[in-house]
Amino acid sequence: FDDRDGWIWMDGHMVPWRDARLHVLTHGLHYASGVFEGERAYGRNIFKLRAHTDRLIASGRILGFEIPWSAEEIDAACMAVLEKNGLEDAYLRPLAWRGSEMLAVSARQTRIHLAIAAWAWPNLFGANRMKGVRLAMAPWRRPAPDTAPTASKASGLYMIGTLSKHAAEAEGYDDALMLDFKGDVAEATGANVFFVMNGELHTPTPICFLDGITRRSVMDLARHRQIKVVERTIGAGEIGGATEVFLAGTAAEVTPVRAIGEHSFTPGAITETLLGDYEALVRLRPAEVARRSA
Ligand code: PMP
Repeated sequence: FDDRDGWIWMDGHMVPWRDARLHVLTHGLHYASGVFEGERAYGRNIFKLRAHTDRLIASGRILGFEIPWSAEEIDAACMAVLEKNGLEDAYLRPLAWRGSEMLAVSARQTRIHLAIAAWAWPNLFGANRMKGVRLAMAPWRRPAPDTAPTASKASGLYMIGTLSKHAAEAEGYDDALMLDFKGDVAEATGANVFFVMNGELHTPTPICFLDGITRRSVMDLARHRQIKVVERTIGAGEIGGATEVFLAGTAAEVTPVRAIGEHSFTPGAITETLLGDYEALVRLRPAEVARRSA
């Protein structure tokens, strides 16, 4: 993935993709002192750009560091990366990390670096998306909020994500559904989860995982359709009682789920409606979004 054409914004400069390199003694690599974002541009417009930028800055603060760029500067850099790479529809990956200025657990003298890359990436699940994905139950649980900084989109929290996803893929599944530290439903490895139960939309309360920007958009879209939205603790034993299940995330967008472990689901009317509404929403120009919510 590193040997290709393109430009990456690094610490204020556009660097050729192949030259966007770090020293091996980077603190972020050794101690996971990094935070990142995943964003999508649709027709050269980055969906909810400021919300992603604000979350990036907040994630850094949770890890005890301040990104040395303002929200306005980060937004402008994201737009510049799209432009420089000639991309219309794309995935963007801003990453902030502690550098290689010193290496020890205590690293308050490290500089905070920021890079932003963008590339064409149609959907997290590719061709499997529309027929519905199959989720295995993850072997790892999301940690409690006093065990890890779970409100941060921190690189270190993805260690159990990669392990869970690899375990699922080894069994022929597309992704894994993670439970939380209590054994209740949490999320997939890179997306939030929704269940249709009794014609209502149920989703776990985000006490130890990301309250995704897509998640919140989908909840708003459902309310606009007069679908009742219920945020609550969802026990693992309730999964089989759902009539429809789908995932929601920037990379996954709205992806129907057709199986979780031994339970099968048929994507239905509510999933299809919200999938279509989300696709329309992300392609609205910002002025239209403002007019709609006025
Ligand atoms: N959970 C995890 C673990 C994720 O990586 C993501 C993707 N950022 C989400 C949920 C969904 O968040 P968002 O809708 O803000 O992309």
